Amino acid sequence: MTHTSALERFLRYVTIDTRSDEHSTSSPSTPGQLTLLKLLVEELQGLGLTDASLDEHGYVMATIPATDGRADDPAIGFIAHVDTSPEMPGADVRPIVHRAYDGSDILLPDDPAAVLRVGDIPALASQIGNDIVTASGTTLLGADDKAGVAAIMAAVEHLVRNPDVAHGPVRIAFTPDEEIGRGADRFDVKKFGAVCAYTIDGGSVGELEYESFSADAMTVTFQGFNTHPGYAKDRMINAIKLAAEFIVRLPQDGLSPETTEDREGFVHPYVVDASVERTSVKLLIRDFLTSGLRQKESFLERLAHEVVAGAPGAGVEFKVEPSYRNMREVLDRHPEVVERARAAMGRAGITPIEKPIRGGTDGSRLSFMGLPTPNLFAGEHNFHSRLEWVSAQDMDRAAQVIVQIARSSDRAIE
Ligand SMILES: [Zn+2]
Repeated sequence: MTHTSALERFLRYVTIDTRSDEHSTSSPSTPGQLTLLKLLVEELQGLGLTDASLDEHGYVMATIPATDGRADDPAIGFIAHVDTSPEMPGADVRPIVHRAYDGSDILLPDDPAAVLRVGDIPALASQIGNDIVTASGTTLLGADDKAGVAAIMAAVEHLVRNPDVAHGPVRIAFTPDEEIGRGADRFDVKKFGAVCAYTIDGGSVGELEYESFSADAMTVTFQGFNTHPGYAKDRMINAIKLAAEFIVRLPQDGLSPETTEDREGFVHPYVVDASVERTSVKLLIRDFLTSGLRQKESFLERLAHEVVAGAPGAGVEFKVEPSYRNMREVLDRHPEVVERARAAMGRAGITPIEKPIRGGTDGSRLSFMGLPTPNLFAGEHNFHSRLEWVSAQDMDRAAQVIVQIARSSDRAIE
């Protein structure tokens, strides 16, 4: 496989501004995503995938038909998202290819403070001789997840141009609005028709992720009593102070994002909506075990009840909304899905790096919607940053793994 294919596509895709927008109610949330989605349909059709189409919610789906004798294999899917993070500037991205990287710090021309320092970025050390792509210093690059889009497109091209490479039916999907948590919302699993899928949206070569957080959103609302502050003696109950007391009582040495790592979960107050009469604290609840979420929520309820117990007349209410669940709960029931990726990496000469994700992916939701979906590397680094980068060779390695997965004839996957 030549390595020009993924890179050339990648450089084209990143120039389209596809930042998603959580304030928008449309799907996709922004018109820039539609521009790229339509381009991808054209490119897929140009490669001979005649059923490539864009649905009314901004999801592209297409099929690479099976080669002779493999039509009865179960269909395998590959998925990447086209949107980029709304938290960073993403218009007028000017990608720069640093050919045959020599191992030194990389200075980005549009901002003297934007430097990829080898000392800060250990992953750069393994990239000497490769072609590194960065933005120019003032915007994100969009490798998250256009590296995944480019790798999938390069794999499609390889399979189409090499009909001697035997494979079963392959389904492709490009999705909108992953960065604002809506990527799986309108994904039509039934129409997709695959027995399993792989998102191509990870970092270093070899990353194979099949375990994510389980996640809830919790709102703790303190009810106080407001009155004219000049005549409030023995009457006013300040809900802001109750909420502050609740937050102060959270553990100082654990259970928070800033004190946990690896397999530890946390509770994370991130928004306070405050008034004397009524104050709500919104918290993210995270754990690798869904039962661990319940424990953390009970702990917070006890804490809040203790706070209001000290303020007669005050009240407290709780609301818990499930966000997503650890995909491993599904994937443990389909071990062949992860095994297929492991074996494919082995055939491509890549050692799998298996570690839990301290977050969620579209695959966390899709797995529970009936489509077991682990996540594989795309070569992305420094997500959501002006220092985002990817190497052309890593994107090609991702394309090779996709081809190897498509070739596998393990019918046990059904
Ligand atoms: Zn992503």
